[in-house]
Amino acid sequence: MDTKNLKFNTKLIHGGAIKDKYGSVNVPIYQTSTFAFESAEEGERCFLGESNGFIYTRLGNPTIKALEDCIAGLCGGYGGIAVGSGMGAVNTIYMALLDKGSHMVSTSAVYGPSRGIMENHWSRFGVESTYVDTTNIESIKKAIKPNTKVLYIETPANPTLDIADLKACSEIAKEHGLILVVDNTFSSPYLQRPFEFGADVVFHSMTKFINGHADIVAGIVIPKTKELYDKLRPMMIALGCNMDPHQAFLVLRGVKTLGIRMERAQENAVKIAEYLENHSKVAWIKYPGSAV
Ligand SMILES: *Cc1c(COP(=O)(O)O)cnc(C)c1O
Repeated sequence: MDTKNLKFNTKLIHGGAIKDKYGSVNVPIYQTSTFAFESAEEGERCFLGESNGFIYTRLGNPTIKALEDCIAGLCGGYGGIAVGSGMGAVNTIYMALLDKGSHMVSTSAVYGPSRGIMENHWSRFGVESTYVDTTNIESIKKAIKPNTKVLYIETPANPTLDIADLKACSEIAKEHGLILVVDNTFSSPYLQRPFEFGADVVFHSMTKFINGHADIVAGIVIPKTKELYDKLRPMMIALGCNMDPHQAFLVLRGVKTLGIRMERAQENAVKIAEYLENHSKVAWIKYPGSAV
C-alpha cells in the first residue's frame, strides 16, 4: 500500500499493512527462522536484494519489514532497520559510522548506557568522544576536531528533557562534514521528525512511546539516504541484534495508538507541571513547555 500521502494518524494504522491472499487486516507473525525458495537462483536474487523475498530472519522477515516500513514512513526516512533494543540501535550506529581514531561529539545529558558503552568500551577500540551541553551551539562548535565524524544529539534528553536546536546542529554538521545522528526516543515521530531539520540518521528505542505498552524492548534505526542504509543494515545483520517477528507484531499493534497516547500524555504532563510549579514545597521544575 502506498502510504506516502496519508495523514500521520492514518499512517500509524495502515503504514505497516501488507497484502496477503486472505486479506488479513493485521500483519501476521511470520515466526520462522528460514524461508524456502522456488529455486537456488531465486534464493540468490533475494540475497542480493533484487527480489522482495526473504531468506533468513536475521536478514529480514515480513512482519519485521512491515514495522520497518511503517516507522520509516512516519519519520520520512529512506528505510527502517529494526533492532532488538534501543541499545542495539546505538551500537549498530557506533559500529557502522565510527572508526579507530575517529571522534564523536555528543550530548552530556545523553541516555546513560549510550555514553557508558562509548566511554568504557568503544574507547578500547580507539574511538574518541566528547560530551558537551548541546543546548549550547557554541559548546558543540568548540568540541569539533579534525577527526570528528559524528554529531550525536539526544533531544529531548532522557531524563533531563534538555532540548537542542536541531536545525542549528544540522547546519554545523553540514559545515564540518559530520553525520548528524538524532536519538528521537523521547518525542517519537508524532512530536518531532528530525529529518525535517536536516538529520542524517534518526533512531528510537521503541520500548518507550512507539510501542507504548511496556511489554517489549525494541529499537529502530532510520537513515535518510540509501548510502547510509547500505552501511547500517549490513552492520545490524552482522552484529546479530535483529528483532524477533513477535516483537515486531507487538510494536505494530502498539504504534496504532501513538497519536492519541501522545496527546493524552502531553495533556497530563502539562497538568502535573502546572501543579508542581505552583506548589509551595517544590523549589524548581524542569518541563520544556514551562515558562519558568
Ligand atoms: C531507553 C532509551 C534507550 C535505550 O533503549 P533500550 O530499548 O532500553 O535498549 C536509548 N535512548 C533513550 C533516550 C532511551 O530512553
